[in-house]
Amino acid sequence: MNVDAYLDPQYGIYEYLTAQKKNGRIRHLGFSAHGDIDCMKKFLNAYGKDMEFCQIELNYFDYKFQNAKGKVELLNEWNIPIWVMEPVRGGQLASLSDEFTAKLKEARPDEKVPAWAFRFLQSIPNVVVTLSGMSDMQQLKDNIATYEEKKPLNEKEMELILSVADDMIAKTTVPCTGCHYCVSHCPKKLDIPFLLKLYNEAVVAGSGDFIAPMGLSSVEADKQPECCIGCHSCAKVCPQTIQIPEALHRFAERMGRV
Ligand code: SF4
Ligand code: SF4
Repeated sequence: MNVDAYLDPQYGIYEYLTAQKKNGRIRHLGFSAHGDIDCMKKFLNAYGKDMEFCQIELNYFDYKFQNAKGKVELLNEWNIPIWVMEPVRGGQLASLSDEFTAKLKEARPDEKVPAWAFRFLQSIPNVVVTLSGMSDMQQLKDNIATYEEKKPLNEKEMELILSVADDMIAKTTVPCTGCHYCVSHCPKKLDIPFLLKLYNEAVVAGSGDFIAPMGLSSVEADKQPECCIGCHSCAKVCPQTIQIPEALHRFAERMGRV
């Protein structure tokens, strides 16, 4: 999000890393970025010529939502190979609603839902590494099976998967990945990812929601969504650029707290 320290010559970060590469302790020098395009451009203009790879969050949901498309184009301009983090967005793209699953099945009957996330990445130029968190043996087997073949999406399939992403975004949930970056910045010590998870439950469930009220009943009185003072410290560090205080306010309103 902020590259100023890397650009400040007083810390000697660049000199140190390039010296380590020269003496063989670093084989390939690259970087990872959660920042926006401007932040990445700033970094690349300073050090891009020495970068051998870049790791970004890239998946079909974030292609438009986080402008991952623009980041891919920028890295392609610099001819920097792309490493992917969050290919299934913390599991969010591993299982979709019945409606979206049916659309994907119609287009590729034999492809499982999580595989679409990887086929999407196989369609993006210059993606060379995909880092996928897996929590059980079956997921590992499925991912290996997917990567046995390279089956990139054709134009129509690409349109389909991006339209699914558009519809998902439009469902008004907030795209919190639970990274916890924001938590230490909150002066009220709110468990922001937990509250946003409940908020998403509430939004998706609509009037039949019982999970959010149940979840909130386990939260201390001074840690409820209405305790947010709107200082925006959290939003400034959120890699997903979520407008956290606004979401918490909507949540509190929804729960009849304000
Ligand atoms: S805006 Fe609210 S949730 Fe965010 S840091 Fe401030 S008090 Fe905490
Ligand atoms: S609100 Fe943002 S920073 Fe906080 S846990 Fe969610 S994604 Fe991470």
